[in-house]
Amino acid sequence: MIVSISKNTSDKDLNKLILKLEALDLKVSHQNNLDKILLNIVGDTTKIDEQTILSFDFVESVSRIRAPYKRVNRELFLNDVIVKVGNIEIGTNKPIAIIAGPCSVESKKQLDIIAQGVKKSGAKLLRGGAFKPRTSPYSFQGMGIEGIELLNLAKQNYQMPIVSEISSETQLPLFEEYVDLLQVGARNMQNFDLLKALGKSKKPVLLKRGFSNTIEEWLMSAEYIVSAGNPNVILCERGIRTFEPYTRNTLDLSVIPIIKQKSNLPIIIDPSHATGDWRLVESMSMAAIVAGADGLMIEVHNNPEEALSDGAQSLTLENFDKLMVKCKVIAKAIEREI
Ligand code: PEP
Ligand code: MN
Repeated sequence: MIVSISKNTSDKDLNKLILKLEALDLKVSHQNNLDKILLNIVGDTTKIDEQTILSFDFVESVSRIRAPYKRVNRELFLNDVIVKVGNIEIGTNKPIAIIAGPCSVESKKQLDIIAQGVKKSGAKLLRGGAFKPRTSPYSFQGMGIEGIELLNLAKQNYQMPIVSEISSETQLPLFEEYVDLLQVGARNMQNFDLLKALGKSKKPVLLKRGFSNTIEEWLMSAEYIVSAGNPNVILCERGIRTFEPYTRNTLDLSVIPIIKQKSNLPIIIDPSHATGDWRLVESMSMAAIVAGADGLMIEVHNNPEEALSDGAQSLTLENFDKLMVKCKVIAKAIEREI
């Protein structure tokens, strides 16, 4: 709910109203607009009697927010959230953040070659899966703790913050110690216990969209994390399941302007999982930049044919370098840094 209050209301009057609302167990914050003060009220606002609020003579209007997400709702929170990962800032008007690396960490040598290569081409963050959520129990499940240790080593050696998927709240102590950006995979987008645990973490979270989830469900998952106390959430579109078999998933690029309109959170695009085909990654990356994405997450492998997971969608280091050259041209054309 938003309560609009006249600009020259005294602090004493304002506090009287805030205390009344807080007594109803609601969270109240305020922001100063050009010509008024806006009170943002989050919680079970059905307890509020609008007429009582309107009886305060300094209250100009009361409006209810219909969307079920509140803390990540732009109507309530106008300012863009900028998420800091290491020393990289991600969000509206910040340089487009490029996250690159292998689907899975496979060995020290593999990660060294890839980290060095992607950094040279312009990636700012290094990705790599260690706990892999695979469709088949017979597929490579990731290197686990050893994979996180290798990522940490690469982080020290190449001075890049690291991104990796956390698949269970039991891994949280390990991830809090080593990983800079905690990825929630598509399959875990509605693992509410995990989301609540991440809400208590100080580390930023990269929340992927579930492949069968609506934008509203996705924002409600973000709401779980933010309402539990962690404001640092980045959304990541990675394609949704449709009837189309020519791609692994269907990249829903329209989510970029929709998220920018409805939410204050940053949004990045993962063209690798969205298409499942390295040949499509370049055009989808460029389209995502033009559509206003705050970053890209791209799978890169030194030898895709031998990759233990997702080789078919992984770019070679050479192709990643070519992609970065093109992305820089596109970014410049829309007056955005990369
Ligand atoms: C990944 O990033 O390696 C991954 C498994 O992604 P998703 O959860 O989007 O399938
Ligand atoms: Mn992958």
